[in-house]
Amino acid sequence: MDYRRIKRVLFVNVFMNFVFISLQKKEEVLLDMVASGAELGWLTSPVKDGWEIGQQAVNGSLLYNYYVCNVEKGEQDNWLRTTFIQRNPAASRVFVELQFNVRDCNTFEAVPLNCKETFNLYTSEADADIGTAFRKGLFRKVATIAPDEISDRGKMKMNTETKVVDNLSRKGFYLGFQDIGACVAIYSVRVYYKTCPATVQSLAAFPETVAGGENQALREVAGSCVKNAISEGQPRIYCTTDGEWVVPMSQCQCESGFEALEDTCQECQPGFFKPSVSSEACKPCPKNTEPSGPGATRCSCNDGFYRAPEDPETSACFGLPSAPQSLLSSTAQMSFGRLQLSWKPPADNGGRSDITYSVVCERCEGKTCQSCGEKVRFEPSNTELKETKVTVSELEPHLNYTFSVEARSGVSQFSHKRAVSSINTTLHYTDPPKVTAMHLVESSPTSLSLQWSVSHRAKPVATRYELMFRKKENDEEKASGTVTTFTVLVLEKNSAQIKDLSPSTVYLFKVQALSSEGSPGSYSIEQEFSTLPPAGNTAVILGAAIGGAVMLFIVVVVLLLRKRRRNSHTRQGPEDTYFSSPDQLKPLKTYVDPHTYEDPNTAVLKFASEIHPNHITKQKVIGAGEFGEVYRGILKAPSRKEVAVAIKTLKPGYTEKQRQDFLSEASIMGQFSHQNIIRLEGVVTKFKHAMIVTEYMENGALDKYLKDHDGEMSSFQLVGMLRGIAAGMKYLSDMSYVHRDLAARNILVNSNLECKVSDFGLSRVLEDDPEGTYTTSGGKIPIRWTAPEAIAYRKFTSASDVWSFGIVMWEVMAFGERPYWDMSNHEVMKAINEAFRLPAPMDCPSAVYQLMLQCWQQDRSKRPRFGDIVSLLDKLLKSPDSLKPIADFDPRVSIRLPSTSGSDGSPFRSVSEWLESIKMSQYSENFSMAGVVSMEQVLQMKSEDIRNIGVRLPGHLKRIAYSILGLKDQTSTLSVFAV
Ligand code: AMP
Repeated sequence: MDYRRIKRVLFVNVFMNFVFISLQKKEEVLLDMVASGAELGWLTSPVKDGWEIGQQAVNGSLLYNYYVCNVEKGEQDNWLRTTFIQRNPAASRVFVELQFNVRDCNTFEAVPLNCKETFNLYTSEADADIGTAFRKGLFRKVATIAPDEISDRGKMKMNTETKVVDNLSRKGFYLGFQDIGACVAIYSVRVYYKTCPATVQSLAAFPETVAGGENQALREVAGSCVKNAISEGQPRIYCTTDGEWVVPMSQCQCESGFEALEDTCQECQPGFFKPSVSSEACKPCPKNTEPSGPGATRCSCNDGFYRAPEDPETSACFGLPSAPQSLLSSTAQMSFGRLQLSWKPPADNGGRSDITYSVVCERCEGKTCQSCGEKVRFEPSNTELKETKVTVSELEPHLNYTFSVEARSGVSQFSHKRAVSSINTTLHYTDPPKVTAMHLVESSPTSLSLQWSVSHRAKPVATRYELMFRKKENDEEKASGTVTTFTVLVLEKNSAQIKDLSPSTVYLFKVQALSSEGSPGSYSIEQEFSTLPPAGNTAVILGAAIGGAVMLFIVVVVLLLRKRRRNSHTRQGPEDTYFSSPDQLKPLKTYVDPHTYEDPNTAVLKFASEIHPNHITKQKVIGAGEFGEVYRGILKAPSRKEVAVAIKTLKPGYTEKQRQDFLSEASIMGQFSHQNIIRLEGVVTKFKHAMIVTEYMENGALDKYLKDHDGEMSSFQLVGMLRGIAAGMKYLSDMSYVHRDLAARNILVNSNLECKVSDFGLSRVLEDDPEGTYTTSGGKIPIRWTAPEAIAYRKFTSASDVWSFGIVMWEVMAFGERPYWDMSNHEVMKAINEAFRLPAPMDCPSAVYQLMLQCWQQDRSKRPRFGDIVSLLDKLLKSPDSLKPIADFDPRVSIRLPSTSGSDGSPFRSVSEWLESIKMSQYSENFSMAGVVSMEQVLQMKSEDIRNIGVRLPGHLKRIAYSILGLKDQTSTLSVFAV
């Protein structure tokens, strides 16, 4: 490396905060004429009449010198040669410092012709001392020595001159001084070489180094870290020809427990610590730690104080939190089987802010307590709670529950001590009574007054009743597939007057009592009552009477026919009763509410076949149902092929009511037989562990499947899936079955991507749906899937199922996105009321979005029927071009939540936070590898940039591009929600 290059490196290094330092240099003397005194022994040639040795007093001390002054004697060639000077093998360059004077030729009286005022310096290298053998020819000239000031006769002017003798390579050398006719005296000859002295720079020690010569102007020297310091690379420095150190490069840092003090690493003082190799100083031990000894790398926690695993060693130690305070349980505003626990944060949080709570439920009788088991539910959860309250549900009445709330922090795991507060509580409520007889009190052409009684042996405790009625379809209506819908009234007393009815019409009524806590009892049997004919029209009355008789006849015939059909049910197989195409016959079968059976067990036996548990093999848990685990397994019935099945189990410890509710799903499912309805294989009811066995759907729930395959399916495939769901729903609505909880999470997908409707409940409808929200009337409703009239007055009909289907369409086209994102239920209801509707998902075919909007008509009679929906979807699938026009998609709206800003509305802090919000985290690495690390860079990206960093799937590409578009324009509003 040459010096110029080093200078360039130096410039760069200075720029990079390296330091160029000049350090004290050192000279190693090889020969010193003055110090040698009389012992010089230098050779002169010629021996006489040339250089001579003399003595002179200078400043009071006697100095030897060599002089010659043959200026008046013609041409001269006088040599003075030093003794052999041994060279340090490392020193190729030596310095010769001369002190001399030369007399001015003009000071002679007659100026001599050959008078000179300079002399010459020569050198001759040799590997050994050659003694007195002197040959001029062996010398090479180094320099002509000229005085800066020449001396007058009486006034001596001393000159000092230093010359460099470079490129020495042999073991030693001589110096020769040639006089060619001057009057000159040499008083001092000092020969030396330079070294860079041993030094310590930035905790790296470098040895003394002989400075290089012309052939190696900069010597790179390796050093080593001082004691107790380490470095990744070897420290380096350069030694210049001038004996200066330049450009030290050291990354030496003191080891843990040591800090730099000048050029050394010293142990941390007691009470201080340093946890890692670094250039930092030792720090005082943090709070709640024991005082450390010298050289500490950490400070241990005091007894009773801890650090969480994620806390750095430098952090303080923390105490355990104290127990939660003021634990209370309340059933106010709570429905059936629920209570709320609330408490205050601990008085002492141990210095930490990561306090969470966990709640344990135990059932205690006397002194023995046992866990409440998994049945009891906690909302939002029973562990890791951040809030100071939790709602507990599925509690049984009259049992003594003990709830213990523990405050925990990141350090609780290190101690056995628990910070727990407990409370005992018992829920008291009464089972609602059963409604026995309902009778007509009064009738008119447009109203009916009914009254009923309850079979409660004790006091009448029911405070409310739920009365359900619907118009009884006549045969014509049945044939045309008209859907009759139930109207539900919640009443405070055991009678009701129902107005605005049609004259001469038969209505079907059933009623159930609700306990004071809102828990429903079972329905009464369905009873028929008719309104009177229009008043004052005897002809009509007569006609009505005849009509009534005819109707009665028809009803009897229909009932008889139905009975015959039911009797033949086992022989025929369920498929035989359903003719969907091509003759467009309506199914003759109607769904039978298992509640109409006095004993629900009879219903199960009627609609489901019994399987022997020996024929079932459970393989793996695949889900958790309301009543117990769901397994994948194998069913091998005698003389039938093995089939893969899903097995729903009933948890041990169930009550008879729970068992009946559990099996009611089978009673309902068993009545259906359609390719898009989950098929019931059978039930186990005669053994202790009841089970429901259905066909196995390899791809599980639709919502999860879509989320897992986001952007991977074409619109055609998605519409195909929707077509299947619509066909299943058409079948259900044709059977007058209202699902009430249609949502993507309740659709199952098999390996052929066929979708089947599942989750058929009864009294438990929606109870097991985590989306279910309690309404003031005590029911539970999944608000964002439910039609407004069903929310407002429980008007659940096939038309409300159509609304839910519209939401499922949206879920499917948006790959499992949550409808209305993170708007609250309240906000959703308000928006719907104000005629806002969900905007089209990205890439949604226009025709599909139009259909969604139709399903969300406020007036339910204007919504399409499932039959219409199936036909339309079929049409779209038959001409895939019809799916090409894409609905207007406003990225600002569709990604208003959650992706135009962080969840708290603030701009995204990082690229990964943004990607997570649009569920594209899988591309985090692509962005960072491409150097896109800030949101500013993201905003500059174009479509091709996104593709170039490796986002290939068109759906993902669009999602990311649209999100960027949306980010650029944050001024979005909800306006395009409006229809
Ligand atoms: P459910 O109680 O019906 O909501 O079932 C709980 C979970 O079990 C569902 O979300 C599915 O993941 C799974 N599951 C239920 N039935 C089936 C089935 N027939 N095939 C595959 N998975 C099922």
